[in-house]
Amino acid sequence: MPLAPTDWVRPNVARMYDFFLGGKDYGEADRVAAAKALELNPDVRLIARANRAFLGRAVRYLAERGVRQFLDIGTGLPSMGNVHEVAQSVHADARTVYVDNDRVVLSHGRALLATDDQTVMLDADLRDPGWILTRASDLLDFDRPVAVLLVAILHFVPDEDGPGEIVGDLMRFLVPGSHLVISHVLETERTVAATAAYQRASARVVLRGEERIGAWFTDAGTELVAPGLVRVPLWRPEMDDGLARDDASRVDVAGGVGRKE
Ligand code: SAH
Repeated sequence: MPLAPTDWVRPNVARMYDFFLGGKDYGEADRVAAAKALELNPDVRLIARANRAFLGRAVRYLAERGVRQFLDIGTGLPSMGNVHEVAQSVHADARTVYVDNDRVVLSHGRALLATDDQTVMLDADLRDPGWILTRASDLLDFDRPVAVLLVAILHFVPDEDGPGEIVGDLMRFLVPGSHLVISHVLETERTVAATAAYQRASARVVLRGEERIGAWFTDAGTELVAPGLVRVPLWRPEMDDGLARDDASRVDVAGGVGRKE
C-alpha cells in the first residue's frame, strides 16, 4: 500500500508523536504542527517520552506476571521498546497483535514490527472492537489471558464514538488474568493549549479527567493494580532501567493497569 502524496499534506498524529520521541519518520507538515504544539506546551516532548516509557514498563510488568499475549491497539510508528520486543525479552514465545488505522503506521509496522510468525500487524479501527477480536483470534488464544493495550489512543476517540463501550466490548470475553492498560492525556491548562496544534491533524485530541478514565477500568470489569491510575512517571518507577526520572507534575498523562479476576 504505497503512500499517496496527500498522506503527507495533513499533519499525522503518529508522525507528530514520532517527532516528539526524537524519531525520523515525519514530514514537513508533521514537523510544523509538532513545533506548534511544543510552542504551546514545551512539555509535550517529555510527555511523549514518559508515555512511551510507561508502555514499556507495563508490558514488562505483565510479561513478568505470566502474560504471553498482547493486543496493542494504536501501535504508532516503530520506536524504542516496541511491545513484541519487550514481551519476547521475557517470554521468547510471546505473541503480539498490533492494530492501527493509519496507512503510514501500517506500512512501517508491516516492514519493521511484524517480522516473525508470533507478531502481526492488522489494519483495523479501535471503534470496531468486534472485528479486531475476530481478526486477532487467528494468532491469539482467547482461552488464555490477553493484555489489551490502549496506550495514548483513547484521547483520539470522541465521546460520540462511545470509548467506554469500546473498552467494555474488548474486555468482555477475555478470561480471568487478562489485563487492560490505558494511558490518556489529562485535561489541564497546558494540554488544552496544545490541542490547537492538532486542529488540522489526522485525529483530534479529546482531553478527559482521571475520574472518567478510571471508570473505564471498573466498567470493563477490571481492578487497578498498584499504584492505581497515576501520572505515568509515577507508575512503578522502580522498574526503570536507567531512564531519567521525569518531573511527574509536568506530565499530564494518566496511566494504569487493570486486572480482570
Ligand atoms: N501506543 C503507542 C503509540 C501512540 S500514538 C505509544 O503509546 O507509544 C497513537 C496511535 O493511535 C497512532 O498510531 C494512531 O494512528 C492510532 N490511532 C488513532 N486513532 C485510532 C483508531 N480509531 N483506530 C486505530 N488506531 C488509531
